[in-house]
Amino acid sequence: ENGVAEGIPALSLPQPVTVQEIRHVKIFINNEWLSSSSGKTFPTFNPATGVKICDVEEADKTDVDKAVEAAKAAKHRSSPWRRMDASSRGRLLHKLADLMERDRLLLATLETLDTGKPFLQSFFIDLEGSIKTLRYFAGWADKIHGKSLPVDESFLCLTKHEPVGVCGAIIPWNFPLLMFMWKMAPALSCGNTVVIKPAEQTPLTALHVGSLIKEVGFPPGVVNIVPGFGPTAGAAIASHMDIDKVAFTGSTEVGQLIKEASAKSNLKRVTLELGGKNPCLVFADCDLQLAVEETQKGAFYNQGQCCTAASRVFVQESIYEEFVRRSIENGKNIVIGDPLDPQTSHGPQIDRKQFDKIMDLIKSGKEEGARLEYGGASLGEKSLFIQPTIFSEVKDHMRIAKEEIFGPVLCIFRFKSQQEAIERANSSQYGLVSAVFTASMDRALSVSAALETGTVWINCYNALHAQTPFGGYKMSGNGRELGEYALAEYSEVKAVTIKLSETL
Ligand code: NAD
Repeated sequence: ENGVAEGIPALSLPQPVTVQEIRHVKIFINNEWLSSSSGKTFPTFNPATGVKICDVEEADKTDVDKAVEAAKAAKHRSSPWRRMDASSRGRLLHKLADLMERDRLLLATLETLDTGKPFLQSFFIDLEGSIKTLRYFAGWADKIHGKSLPVDESFLCLTKHEPVGVCGAIIPWNFPLLMFMWKMAPALSCGNTVVIKPAEQTPLTALHVGSLIKEVGFPPGVVNIVPGFGPTAGAAIASHMDIDKVAFTGSTEVGQLIKEASAKSNLKRVTLELGGKNPCLVFADCDLQLAVEETQKGAFYNQGQCCTAASRVFVQESIYEEFVRRSIENGKNIVIGDPLDPQTSHGPQIDRKQFDKIMDLIKSGKEEGARLEYGGASLGEKSLFIQPTIFSEVKDHMRIAKEEIFGPVLCIFRFKSQQEAIERANSSQYGLVSAVFTASMDRALSVSAALETGTVWINCYNALHAQTPFGGYKMSGNGRELGEYALAEYSEVKAVTIKLSETL
């Protein structure tokens, strides 16, 4: 699926490991495993079966306070972490990447058990992306530097890039390990310390990484992991007076709460990666089969649970019918099944709340007059599986055209002119990603200049790289993750101005 396993014989594909026992289920502070101060735990479930995997210690405000205390001590100017050579910081990040390579099958299996995402996607995309992110930011550690400035009169001004301090990270359940790495890797590369809260649905891979942090030899307190719920542990991070920056990926509503909490506490820096209602513009001169496959990959990848989901596919009139026909044909290649089976390309949704929201939106699409071309049903009474679903004749006023579905639903719209397509693509409160399919580079570049999104993909989709900044315009977020741009989010700039003697 999605190109990852194409052409690889089934037997040589990576296989999930048998997990007898989940070893890391506690709160990780100062390189130690702690029980929750409240004595509470919470269960995490396998969304494919509904069976409980294990109980995890539930961190709340008291535990977050402890984690922040540890992170604050570890960032003190005289601490081993702050006194460490920048190149050694980079080596520790590389070593962590090595251990993640070593444990790759186990981590991919845990990710699949906890999220329901197909195993090969966990292995080839989440793990690959996580390891590459670590290595990319490992390389930056000793290349982060300031400037000397040509100031007026006889002064010398130097700028220095220093860590921000304690960085909080609040992680979603759709890419638990990858989003953790997108936040932790640049934070550590710049010399910060972190307190991270995994999503309550998916804490397992983050906790395994805790054991690797200890094994690598990061000084205690540099990385702290507090599994728990949003309104308790998450809110405690957002409003903490000793957290200097918070990075969040998740819903726009919670993003707003986090900014508000920052404003009402210590004005900590906030970076947000929120929702999207991402447009794809498919022009008549494009490679049609490529556009069909890429937009479908964009819509259905990770069961549609992506902030980058291709959720509004605008197709030019003259190729519309053929595009819809081929989309239906292509949809038939998707293999729904046990996510641990390497042949499976489509798993369950994460939980009942998300499942119900998606089914309600599918119902609204039918009621509002969109044409259901494919799928549209759930599989079985109690299961969280939803068929990949294709609607054509979707109109801009419909709920499925406006609301973030976060499920496997492809909505196909019709357009006549380039200008019209651009206007409709931009008429959204979101501005995360967009895509343009055309054979004309001239058109691709002029349309990409007009689109109000942080990323524009041309003749491709979901092409994410550690080197490339990622983030949203408008209500899709603030700030950028990945690439050199991410370093600015995790650095303070200090200007040191020196008075020089006037005489030579
Ligand atoms: P959410 O925004 O509630 O959860 C994301 C993270 O925020 C989790 O770690 C959660 O514990 C934490 N959180 C929740 N409330 C908080 C609070 N008050 N303070 C601090 N942290 C808090 O997302 P959800 O409820 O799991 O999903 C709802 C919708 O969010 C989805 O349908 C989807 O539209 C969107 N979503 C987007 C992304 C993304 O990648 N941008 C990821 C997950 C969900």
